[in-house]
Amino acid sequence: MVDPVPQLESLPLAKGTSVLLRADFNVPLRDGKIEDDLRITASLPTITWLLERDCKIVACSHLGRPKGKVDPAYSLAPVAQRLGELLGADVALATGVADFASIGQVQELAAGRVMMLENLRFEPGEEANDPAFATNLSELGDVYVDDAFGAAHRAHASIVGPPHVMPSAAGRLLAREVEVLSALLDRPEQPFVVVLGGVKVSDKLGVIDALLDHCDQLLIGGAMAFTFLVAQGASVGDSLVEEHQVKHCLRLLETGKVLVPTDVVVTQEISADAAARHVAAQAIPDGWKGVDIGPETAGTYADVVAGAATVLWNGPMGIFELAPFAAGTRTVAEAVADCRGFTVVGGGDSAAAVREMGFAGRVDHVSTGGGAALELIELGDLPGLQALRK
Ligand code: ADP
Ligand code: MG
Repeated sequence: MVDPVPQLESLPLAKGTSVLLRADFNVPLRDGKIEDDLRITASLPTITWLLERDCKIVACSHLGRPKGKVDPAYSLAPVAQRLGELLGADVALATGVADFASIGQVQELAAGRVMMLENLRFEPGEEANDPAFATNLSELGDVYVDDAFGAAHRAHASIVGPPHVMPSAAGRLLAREVEVLSALLDRPEQPFVVVLGGVKVSDKLGVIDALLDHCDQLLIGGAMAFTFLVAQGASVGDSLVEEHQVKHCLRLLETGKVLVPTDVVVTQEISADAAARHVAAQAIPDGWKGVDIGPETAGTYADVVAGAATVLWNGPMGIFELAPFAAGTRTVAEAVADCRGFTVVGGGDSAAAVREMGFAGRVDHVSTGGGAALELIELGDLPGLQALRK
């Protein structure tokens, strides 16, 4: 059970109250254009709630990794523009982050309007959690709202600083993420099935340990499957393996709750027009690399998911970005969409897969935070949530 955090209703708000809103507008950009605006639309419930109460909103976020320096390629300008379009009202972008000029702009902001600060990571103090930077930021609002679930696992200045000095609460998005993920840890309806894939086993072993206590079955796909297969004594050809995790995987297999692929899709070359073969998971030929779960495995996983009362899925089953290796991820995504139980998809790439394949509307909750969701499941709390309870 994750301890509750203060909600918007707890804030002392009046007409013209200035709200420092930490959002997660870390959207994928290509050539200055937003490829997917989910993180912006996801912030609208909190923003409209605050605007209905005639607050003024000073929104801030990080975007990419400009590493403490101003870099126009990471300007929040496209985000401010898109948010303005969604709200039907201009969202002015400050020239800096928490400098003298932004203070002036905040003072001129009218009640019921939104402005945005520049990329928090243009300032080295953000990631370094510099108290002086946190103080400058805090001066831009009377109250603080954190709706940046995707950044709640980082002890950065904009996440943990303001709650020390001003009334603070979780926005709707953050609150919903905590509610859903907390429910998964706290008496999930059984059978509770977890599907895990993606690249690195080592990133996810902590979460697997935490989940094994709660779930009935764990289905393994993605690149991490090959480390489990090696633990079973399989030959995996040129597939990705984390040798130093083999022993840990063996221990996890001994719980009897873990299913690994019985067949896989292999290739000699990772490209969109690559020739792919379908082989038994225990005997991948030398020179070939496993890039997706096979149809038999996908079918088994889909059947297990169909019978689940609760499903948590993190990490694609294969290199779904390339059509020849996307079938396993698609089959599992469809099974999750069709499942009548409570279904949650977390993880940046898995969420993208579910959306691109058109299944997002039939999943109960698509988490906006990958790392944050896994860390909350693993540790039961996050720095950003702890800060809000201060
Ligand atoms: P998420 O963001 O959902 O948590 P990860 O970041 O852990 O997921 O992993 C996503 C990536 O894993 C995808 O880019 C996908 O191409 C890759 N992947 C999946 N299966 C394999 C595989 N067998 N070999 C190499 N990469 C893989
Ligand atoms: Mg990822």
